[in-house]
Amino acid sequence: MKFYEKYKVGAEYKDFIVISIDDLHDFKAVGVYLRHKTTGLEVYHIINDDEENLFSFNFRTLAKNSYGAAHIMEHSVLCGSEKFPLKEPFTTLENQSVKSFLNAMTYPDKTSYPAASLIQSDYFNLMDVYADAVFFPKLSRQTFEQEGWRVEMDEKGKLSVQGVVYNEMKARFSDFNQVCIDRMIDTMYPDSIYCYESGGDPLEIPNLTYDNWLEFHKQFYSPSNCLLFLYGNISTDVQLDFIAEKYIPRLAASYPPANIPDIRAETPFITAEIRELQKTLPLKSSVCKTYTAPDNGATGAMVCIAWYTGESSIEKTYLTEVLSGNDSSPLSKMLQESDLGDDLAPVCGNFGYVHQNNFIAYGLSGVKKGDEKKVFDLIKSAVQTIYENDVSKADINSAIMGIDFNLREVGRHFGPYSIVLMSKVLAGWTNGFKPNLHLSPISDFEKVKQQIALDPDYTKNLIKKYFIENSVQADVIVEPSKEYFKEREGRESSLLENFEKTVDKESLKKDLEELHAYQSRVETPEELSCIPHLKISELTADLNHITTQVSEVQGLDGEIPVVYSDEATNGIVYVDVAFPIDNVAPADFKDLPLMIDSLTDLGWNGKKWDECTAEMACIMGDVGTRTIIGDLPDSDYSRATVAAYKNKNVAGRSWITISAKFLSHKTEESLKLLSEIISKMSFDDAKRLKTILSENQLDKKSNFVHHGNHYLSLRGRSFFNKASAMNELFYGVSQYFHINSYTKKQVPELLKKYKALYESILNQGCVIHVTSDSDSLKAVDALLPEFVKTTGLKTLKPSIGYEYKDYLPYIYQFEPENHEVEAFKINTQSGFSAMYFPCTIWLTKEAAAEDILSTWLNGHQLWEKIRMTGGAYGGSCAPDASDKIFAMQSWRDPTPVKSLDLFIESLEEVCKKEFTEEEVECCIISNYSDEIVPDSPSQRGVRGFNRFLFGTTAQMIQTRLEQTLSVTPQDVHKAAERLLEYSKNCRKIVICDKSKEFCGKVIQI
Ligand SMILES: [Zn+2]
Repeated sequence: MKFYEKYKVGAEYKDFIVISIDDLHDFKAVGVYLRHKTTGLEVYHIINDDEENLFSFNFRTLAKNSYGAAHIMEHSVLCGSEKFPLKEPFTTLENQSVKSFLNAMTYPDKTSYPAASLIQSDYFNLMDVYADAVFFPKLSRQTFEQEGWRVEMDEKGKLSVQGVVYNEMKARFSDFNQVCIDRMIDTMYPDSIYCYESGGDPLEIPNLTYDNWLEFHKQFYSPSNCLLFLYGNISTDVQLDFIAEKYIPRLAASYPPANIPDIRAETPFITAEIRELQKTLPLKSSVCKTYTAPDNGATGAMVCIAWYTGESSIEKTYLTEVLSGNDSSPLSKMLQESDLGDDLAPVCGNFGYVHQNNFIAYGLSGVKKGDEKKVFDLIKSAVQTIYENDVSKADINSAIMGIDFNLREVGRHFGPYSIVLMSKVLAGWTNGFKPNLHLSPISDFEKVKQQIALDPDYTKNLIKKYFIENSVQADVIVEPSKEYFKEREGRESSLLENFEKTVDKESLKKDLEELHAYQSRVETPEELSCIPHLKISELTADLNHITTQVSEVQGLDGEIPVVYSDEATNGIVYVDVAFPIDNVAPADFKDLPLMIDSLTDLGWNGKKWDECTAEMACIMGDVGTRTIIGDLPDSDYSRATVAAYKNKNVAGRSWITISAKFLSHKTEESLKLLSEIISKMSFDDAKRLKTILSENQLDKKSNFVHHGNHYLSLRGRSFFNKASAMNELFYGVSQYFHINSYTKKQVPELLKKYKALYESILNQGCVIHVTSDSDSLKAVDALLPEFVKTTGLKTLKPSIGYEYKDYLPYIYQFEPENHEVEAFKINTQSGFSAMYFPCTIWLTKEAAAEDILSTWLNGHQLWEKIRMTGGAYGGSCAPDASDKIFAMQSWRDPTPVKSLDLFIESLEEVCKKEFTEEEVECCIISNYSDEIVPDSPSQRGVRGFNRFLFGTTAQMIQTRLEQTLSVTPQDVHKAAERLLEYSKNCRKIVICDKSKEFCGKVIQI
């Protein structure tokens, strides 16, 4: 009998009162809402049969400034607590738990501490450490200085401000789009907590004192302000038993009783003080505001209009989906076709950010000086035109299809899907509403659909209400400015000057020595043993296998392989038609990315792209392209596997796929449309290609700030093998320079080239992959022969076999013999570093040991040197054993060049270390947990397909796991010596600020 069948509303269990039991029909689950009588702790448990259980401790945390107290607290509670008095229980946990998810997040109005595991005993170990951390943290001064901020002094006595959060936030303030979003929110919620940077503004963080920070914990981390979210199949009473026995008595002893006036109230209790802070005071009358932002790749200003629209609801989601759900939707199309900007603004659409206060914004970015007013006029007239002409049936249908599809697709983007459910629950719960307020989106949308069907003016009336007759709107301009950094740097210098005057250097030196001693003190195995962990014998060596079924369908000139992945997709079908690209001449390779990016985006069958997009959106969830670049691993296992299907010409090659996803009942229509798209792709819309080109040029530049690691990884690996060289040409700095060398004038010529390339690729033949549940697979299977015939698909031609050396002449400034450090220089306040060298091929005992060693380094040397002492946001290493490349990297790093030395120093240190059985066992458990993290159904399909393409079998994955489970301390020691030796042949690259002095090879971006 389930808990909710035994205990009805009003019943009590161990002093927890059942407040409500909710049938969560849309998610095939039941929600139980409980409140503890004396402490006020609230619990919401979503119960279903998912074995991946998740819990999250959530607190309403609201700040009246940008000092970053909430964010620094989020980092710090995980740095030691009463029962777990270690420097970093979180890292220890991360390195030895079988968790499938472990994180902590700060939002403007709350802080969340979620973790998930597939194994019950591990789940409760995690809960124990997290509960102790949030309610009984040590919060030492050293932690505050390390995670928050401190004045640091180098050997010459030069002062600087350092700290993990301090450095992390510098990156955020270097990001043009992020600053735009922040300014938009400031404008819409003036005089509310949303105006402050909850993560902390680096210029303000040094205002936070240790005492004020301790006060912050007292104010917000009480049980009566805690919302404990639970999800999964562990029964409610087992979870409540754990809390009631392990925590309630301690909470009652340490925190004052909650004194909640109505302990049985259906809505959560919030203190008057927190309620006051929660008041958002949205914009009351129209305003016009201009702000500045960092000049980082932006080609012009962001110009936007936002309308205040009150409470968030599915109706508003529908409205924005109609207007701008895809590129052919009326409003996004009018804006993009105007030539007044480069792209839609990053804030376009529905901002259901705060439940009670939602706004809808539209605008453009990349707007030239002088055009701002034109953009405002355009947005207003576009909305007016859409209102007067009425929204077309096609736009309404595609909006409905888009929402229906999204509500059914189970993804895994930021962790398990339960995180999505949690954010829906918290949207109401934190703000004083019932937790299930947002848990019926499918049913709510069915009601909207009924209204759409009944009332022909439904959509029109929404436009009237929220735009035409809405008197509260904000016109906002955010300009990129060279002054932005200068101004911030100026303020930073005067801050330092001030410290220079006030700080007593002798006592500072003493303080820092103490801090560094604390940081570098190595904890003994006895101390570390307070963190519970499983034994290797408790792990099952049986993995959740991914299976695929291979069959064939008759093509135009021979057989075409079809790979089926049978997965629980909730009635969604995913189809990939993959064509090989490894026969494209290496000289043309750099032209492929933009071509692939514009496929399905330039229209087909003589129709314009917007018509095509609109048509597609009424039938499918989406259509697009994907690239798979790879090579057969240099392993006997892989070679033996593919020998069985050698004559199919399918193994170890690189591909583009044209991929569609749709709801199962639309299979026939969707396959018909996919066939039309592939066989009748158009290459004649020069204007459209120009837009796609400039979007790509912009993205590539801003990616240096956000995803610098990605560029470093591509570049560094390209020194080692063919697949990596191809990847560099596709996505790396080589592609960055190539795509930026295109001019708009070249577009007609490019179109001709793309057409020829596309036709030659189609001629190479294909392989088809389908992921869906068994019933839907049968439907697809029956329709495939017709699909293949009408599309004119062919059997695969053999690979020409271009080699590594054939691609090298096209890599940007490639000098294989020059082993100097390479630096990409950009405007940023924080950088990246990376180092690459060879390692052992996978499925060997050596590779397994190198993997274990990397887990050790991540949790120890790299964590301590790069993050704790170095002040970078992170440092890590990992072998890519199938490619035989070992990578070490740091990110959001104030001193990236220095980190390169720390990588080597770390390797030298582990060579001298004697590993214990216990230490190795913890690393093994951590690696095991990476193996068992569940994938979403579509990801599982993709994984299965890739395994087929590159000769990996379930047996091989199993073998690798068994090799991991049997690694010994001696193996790890040998791995350390081996990697130190290999690292002599390394490639080093950094991304750093233009102003940083640097000796080595410089590539200016
Ligand atoms: Zn952080």
